Amino acid sequence: MTDIAHRWADSYRTRLTIGYVVVIALIASAWAWSLFGPLNNAIVSQQSDNLQAVAQAGALVLGQTETTAAETAMRLTARTNLRMTIIAPDGSVLADSEEVPSTMENHRDRPEVAEALGGNVGVDRRVSTTQGTERIYVAVPASFDGQNVALRVSDSLERINSVAASARRFGLVLLALALAFAAAIVARLTAVASQPVARLSRAANAMAQGNLSAVVPEESGDLGVLSSALVELREQMRARLDALEAEQGNLRAVLDGLPDGVVLLHDGEVRIANSAIASILKTDTRSWRGHPVSRLGLPASIAGAIERGLGSAEPLTEDCGPDTSGHYFRVGILPLNPAEEHTRHLVVISDVTERVRIDSVRRDFVANASHELKTPAAGISLLAESATNAATDGDIDQAITFAKQISSESARLGRLVSDLLDLSRLEGKTVPGSVVDVRKSIENTMLGHRIAAGARGIELSVDLESVAGTDVIAAADPTDLAVALDNLLDNAIKYTESGSVLVNVNINEQDVCISVADTGIGIPGADIPRIFERFYRVDRARSRDSGGTGLGLALVRHVVERSNGTIEVISTPGKGSVFTITLPRARH
Ligand code: ADP
Repeated sequence: MTDIAHRWADSYRTRLTIGYVVVIALIASAWAWSLFGPLNNAIVSQQSDNLQAVAQAGALVLGQTETTAAETAMRLTARTNLRMTIIAPDGSVLADSEEVPSTMENHRDRPEVAEALGGNVGVDRRVSTTQGTERIYVAVPASFDGQNVALRVSDSLERINSVAASARRFGLVLLALALAFAAAIVARLTAVASQPVARLSRAANAMAQGNLSAVVPEESGDLGVLSSALVELREQMRARLDALEAEQGNLRAVLDGLPDGVVLLHDGEVRIANSAIASILKTDTRSWRGHPVSRLGLPASIAGAIERGLGSAEPLTEDCGPDTSGHYFRVGILPLNPAEEHTRHLVVISDVTERVRIDSVRRDFVANASHELKTPAAGISLLAESATNAATDGDIDQAITFAKQISSESARLGRLVSDLLDLSRLEGKTVPGSVVDVRKSIENTMLGHRIAAGARGIELSVDLESVAGTDVIAAADPTDLAVALDNLLDNAIKYTESGSVLVNVNINEQDVCISVADTGIGIPGADIPRIFERFYRVDRARSRDSGGTGLGLALVRHVVERSNGTIEVISTPGKGSVFTITLPRARH
């Protein structure tokens, strides 16, 4: 049992015990008081009544006696063991059973004697002048020897007191026994009464410590109501805790599911940090809770942005970076309750490195594309002017030459525009479930290149032997494959002086492999990683002379990527190149 429960049960038991003790003490006091006060008085009054009865009997005997007063007094004393005194009407003592009458004073002034001589019963309590002890006196009227006398009977109070004392002793022993018995009952009663309270307080205390599986004892009566209330309370707490935990779990799941890093700051100290923040900043955030932003070891630019956001009542967004590993971040700081005493801020940190890179690529692309478009456009304008001048000068041959160059430049412009359009289309999404008959696509593409190959004296052939009798279907868009094959064949013919271009098709369980091999100029090893970049050319002049746009292999790369395929190049300068694209095989 805990200290608190102990104290509570103890105080309850103590209070109960005090209550019982007070009641018992009151009863015991009343009892004790009755032993010392009323009991004494009752004994004295009883004795006084007895003395009165004895005196009346003595008066009867005295009225009929034929002996002397002294003898009668002695006889009465012998029978009653009480002191007898006979007093004459003038107050002089006629006889006394214990003293010599002649030595005794006149008793007229004694209150009981005065009463008896006046015809009444007189009673008095005082210290005897002759004996020096406290006594009780009862005097009654009597007749002796023809005159009205008083017969007084007296008894020592010491004797009465000793009777009272022994009665008191007996009463006190009884009281002590009763008290001991009552103490035992009180101890038992308080223990029995406080046990259920202690049990309930133990359960309540365990619940207060957060133990919601604490067993609440079943009690009866008033404590039964308390016990059921505790059970109800425990169930409600459990339900609320479960709901709270579920809510917290949902919140945590939402926060952890966010791609951006989210941090909740309370008075500038971290309260919540989601898991994305750790992966974005590549740091362990488990010890962040309770620490101020300045102590989190954040890159200086991010920490600075957050500090500025904390000092502003308005939402703030800042771009930071690059950090030491070249990453760029966007930091948003949103004040949640700017007007309140305790401030809360939501900090959102996004890794925008990819966006920054794409923006830069786009900018470069626009610049390159503009440049590529500007060159033929400017050439056309210049050639048109020259053609006009030549025609004006009557130099028709020259004018025709310029006109042919205009036609060639505009064809190049047209190819450039067409490649740009293809590029933009290929940046979009592919149609899901598209399939293409590879054999048919190769045959169609070859048709368009036979004339060019023939013109350059290059042998253009296709080897489908390994797939003879098999449908070769790839999971790709037909237009995409046509674009890729067209560019690969175009390049193979363009960059081959003499020899051959061979298209080969192979399949396995999963893939279709199409390779375009030429015996051309080949590509230096250092350039191979870059030939798929837009507008990259190994030999710029040669590419331009042969009508290249610099976008052909970029288009092939896009096709392969969006079809979940791969592309591979093997090339030896001066000997030739082999471009192999692998596409997933379609099942049907
Ligand atoms: P281009 O329009 O200049 O051909 P591509 O993107 O198709 O642009 O090709 C990029 C560069 O790769 C070409 O300029 C060329 O230098 C090189 N290249 C591509 N295919 C071949 C090949 N079959 N043989 C040799 N060089 C090639």
